[in-house]
Amino acid sequence: MARHSTVGRVGANDAVTELMTAMGHEEVVFVADAPSGLRAVIAVHSTALGPSLGGIRFWRYPSERDAVVDVLRLAEAMSLKAAAAGLHQGGGKAVVLVDDPDAPRSDALLRAMGRAIDDLGGRYLAAEDVGATPHDMQVIASETPWVTGVEGPGGSGDPSPMTAYGVVRAMSTVLEQLDGDDSLEGKRVVVDGVGHVGTHLARLLAAAGARVAVADVNADRVDGLAHEIDAEPVPVERALEEECDVLAPCALGGVLDEKTIPRLQCRAVCGAANNQLAELADADALAARGILYAPDFVVNAGGIINLAEEFVGYDRENARRRTAEIAGTLRRVFEIARDEGVPPGRAAEQLARRRIAEEGAGHRFRPGDPAAWTNGQPLLSLRPS
Ligand code: NAD
Repeated sequence: MARHSTVGRVGANDAVTELMTAMGHEEVVFVADAPSGLRAVIAVHSTALGPSLGGIRFWRYPSERDAVVDVLRLAEAMSLKAAAAGLHQGGGKAVVLVDDPDAPRSDALLRAMGRAIDDLGGRYLAAEDVGATPHDMQVIASETPWVTGVEGPGGSGDPSPMTAYGVVRAMSTVLEQLDGDDSLEGKRVVVDGVGHVGTHLARLLAAAGARVAVADVNADRVDGLAHEIDAEPVPVERALEEECDVLAPCALGGVLDEKTIPRLQCRAVCGAANNQLAELADADALAARGILYAPDFVVNAGGIINLAEEFVGYDRENARRRTAEIAGTLRRVFEIARDEGVPPGRAAEQLARRRIAEEGAGHRFRPGDPAAWTNGQPLLSLRPS
């Protein structure tokens, strides 16, 4: 389950509305459809900067409470990511409780989910997340226009190449911060997890002259990159303790914790995985070890920046240009960290929360309100017609 910095504010027996109050959520919708067996929770964290956007996760949770806590944390994380990236949207998330996330879902269940999203009238914009397939998203989209990233005209397609591009821009900024020179040439980078994002990242790093090492539980992916770009294979269990300039976590969340941080032998951490820190206090532990941490939700925003370009008429070059701005955002995070004497993990949260509080002050998006990309018109569709 994804973890987040608000853990410390969440008591084991708090009621849902207490959790929402502590974390600043606007709305949580519980959805059930007996005929299809749908059980889902949709969380809208913040619409202060615009409609909330976040993926639909199909997952088997030990209990409904685990599902609720997960969706609340994930929605909050989406608000921070969008705000730090300068996007005019907020954070939301949905979880569908299933016994087996890999088993196909009935169209009836997916359509019921689509109708529940439709009822929110655009306050929650859905996207693909863990466990969701492109087919699931197509069926959901047959019931509601409030779905992003679906195939077809105006769609932005697979976000992972853009996410990887953003990670490279961030990594150059990290090196500039460390050495006064942003070149990747000759730098040793360990990419831990070479799935969709990690594979693109490894290729881009090799093209920039970095010495790339790769690790993955899937040996075929590692072998493929060893042949293709001469990447050095590293055993999964050693990936975090490899001596390197930059460690790029690109697999699971929660990899940086009290057990792993003392073993790291990198100068910096900069990767795509969501929720890399088990707790926000781990940002302090990294700083205490002299390791520069590039906050994950700043580094990996290329995916949602790419998606947001759909709203104004998708153009790949514009999406790349906007994604490259991650470098400037990260510089700003490092500046705040220096000026306020806090680690970058905390500085990034401050940057995001200040934007929501100041630019979004008093705003709450309602169905039919204009959005940033509708030129003052009511938001009736996500893409320009
Ligand atoms: P993916 O599932 O395609 O890739 C994950 C890879 O990690 C797989 O190859 C898997 O075999 C490997 N893996 C699993 N457990 C591992 C372990 N213990 N050690 C090493 N490797 C392991 O996912 P992805 O789309 O590439 O996303 C990677 C991470 O980046 C995720 O945390 C995701 O939430 C985050 N992210 C992705 C995007 C995107 O555009 N796809 C955007 C933002 C954030």
